[in-house]
Amino acid sequence: MRIPTVTLNDGTPFAELGLGTYNLRGPEGVASIVSAIQSGYRLLDTAVNYENEREVGEAVRQSAVPRDELFLVTKIPGRHHGYDLAIESTNGSLAALGVDRIDLSLIHWPNPSRDLYLYTWRSMIDLRAVGKIGSIGVSNFTEQMLTRLIDETGVVPAVNQVELHPYFPQAALRAFHAEHGIRTESWSPLARRSELLTEQVIHELSAIHGVTPTQVVLRWHIELGSTPIPKSGDPDRQRENADVFGFELTADEVAAISALERGRLWNGDPNTHEEM
Ligand code: NAP
Repeated sequence: MRIPTVTLNDGTPFAELGLGTYNLRGPEGVASIVSAIQSGYRLLDTAVNYENEREVGEAVRQSAVPRDELFLVTKIPGRHHGYDLAIESTNGSLAALGVDRIDLSLIHWPNPSRDLYLYTWRSMIDLRAVGKIGSIGVSNFTEQMLTRLIDETGVVPAVNQVELHPYFPQAALRAFHAEHGIRTESWSPLARRSELLTEQVIHELSAIHGVTPTQVVLRWHIELGSTPIPKSGDPDRQRENADVFGFELTADEVAAISALERGRLWNGDPNTHEEM
């Protein structure tokens, strides 16, 4: 299965769908990630705080796919904010992954009460200049925080990875991203399964298009222009999740899914929720 790419604001090709790896750990986790790569996944999303960068690196080596064809995303945690700590964090991620370049590094959470993310960002700009990081972006940033980064450094993040699913479509933030050339990435794109997959509108569209409810939801992300990173440890579900490029949803169908909006599911407001 070939997953199409789009081009980031720095010219880098970026997959329209990737694999979330939260909770994929140990030998079983490695086997799951290898199976995803063999099914066609190229973008692998990890983080220092998932404690599985070693597993992701091991899966890359075990897969028969050349390193250059894979795209590794990791994230700098709250406790590593600040110029020097972000460098140390990146060196730690490079060692854990066993690679000499991270394809995309993200600030995991802004943690505004500590007010250090600007220093972290400056560090990432310099790490990109020396080739340790290919592209730089953020996660869980609000419009105000993005504006501050851009105004202070002139460097627009390539990506903002945020909570995004039919219960929380993030229309205003997506419009801001589009205006500034920032690629949206959807975390928890399936709303962690929850009752989303049993919603009537999802089932109706699944019948109309002859696809599964999960495929309807993932196609909705593609139609919005956001890269979803569904996590599955199961090879069959991984294949199902990646197989969403053979059908399309109409604008009305996209709107009907977006009408499920009810807000954030896990109180992760970046103005108040902080993670170390
Ligand atoms: P998710 O991808 O929305 O949902 C994962 C859950 O759905 C798992 O329980 C998985 O179980 C199940 N599932 C997957 N495919 C399925 C299918 N086809 N049919 C039925 N069930 C299916 O949630 P997530 O793991 O929270 O989010 C995805 C990724 O986003 C994470 O892994 C992580 O990489 C990233 N993330 C980032 C942040 C951030 O702050 N930046 C926060 C949260 C998550 P099985 O494994 O058993 O299939």
